[in-house]
Amino acid sequence: MAVVLLPGDGIGPEVAEAARSALAVLAPDLELEEHPFGAAAIRAQGTPLSDATLEACRRAEAVLKGPIGDPEFDAADVRPEQGLLRLRAELGVYANLRPAAAEGVDLLIVRELVGGLYFGARGTRPDGTVFDTCEYHPREVERIARRAFQLARARRGRLTSVDKANVLETSRMWRRVVRETARDYADVELDDMLVDNAAMQLASAPGRFDVIVTDNMFGDILSDLAAAVTGGLGLAPSASLSDSGPGLYEPVHGSAPDIAGRGVANPTAMLRSTALMLEHALGLRQEARRLEEAVDAALARAPTPDLGGSATTQEFTAAVVSALTAGEPARTL
Ligand code: NAD
Repeated sequence: MAVVLLPGDGIGPEVAEAARSALAVLAPDLELEEHPFGAAAIRAQGTPLSDATLEACRRAEAVLKGPIGDPEFDAADVRPEQGLLRLRAELGVYANLRPAAAEGVDLLIVRELVGGLYFGARGTRPDGTVFDTCEYHPREVERIARRAFQLARARRGRLTSVDKANVLETSRMWRRVVRETARDYADVELDDMLVDNAAMQLASAPGRFDVIVTDNMFGDILSDLAAAVTGGLGLAPSASLSDSGPGLYEPVHGSAPDIAGRGVANPTAMLRSTALMLEHALGLRQEARRLEEAVDAALARAPTPDLGGSATTQEFTAAVVSALTAGEPARTL
């Protein structure tokens, strides 16, 4: 089994090192193939995503990616973010999974990632009016719905489909297709919710949700809201999945240039993304659970400065490794 590790930019290499340490304990036989990506790759190879890196990603079981981005390239013609958009498109990862958990809350947002408002026709009319259009084919809705039903089935069996069916045609079709798809998943309890109500419920009673499935833009906004009510973006992992090829596992946060190189980055989101990879790509559910528990233990014992603590990235990682190896014979890492 090989996983491609793209450490990325800024704090990326620092949090990637934490993932490496955890995987050394949990999956010692796993081969980690490292490639430059983002600004690091522009510097080394002249492009944020070289053909060799893309080929390695396509062949891998999974791609574990640190954040990318560097202010140096903000105004450049060749930018790190172009590599990320291309990688997502090339891997066809249409299902973006964003779990959010805290005291009394354990929910999963399944966001459609490659359609809708962000990919529909856009332009400027002769009179100066600017437009973006939300477009979905029923096939695109069905495939994300199926993915969400399967995920709900493996959890608490409750799925909330979020739309704006009182206003939008795409939402009415979305709701119809999700309901039709529900016939194949009689063991999952489905309810529909309008997006404005969903935002209010997420802010005031997030504990009521199990799995939420929604379109690209609603998912973009609701998942950040869910992250905010469960501890902040710095803790939030994500997995982006296709039907057959490798998935892309990455923290939601960026490369944090303001703290890069100081050794104080919080590696939680990267480690939780690693847990998602263990579960979804490698079928190592128990190991994923162990990693999540070890991260929770480290968050309580050795919080990093962004959480009001004083632990360095290395100290936090050591706390994770120590929680993982508790009860195991001592080993050199
Ligand atoms: P950011 O997420 O990098 O940082 C926002 C704030 O959160 C900063 O103060 C930062 O120090 C803090 N922060 C973020 N992650 C942290 C962590 N793990 N530990 C401790 N503190 C953390 O967002 P930004 O500053 O808007 O963007 C910086 C760069 O990252 C930009 O180039 C942007 O394009 C890029 N970016 C990349 C991705 C990605 O790779 N998927 C996602 C978002 C932003």
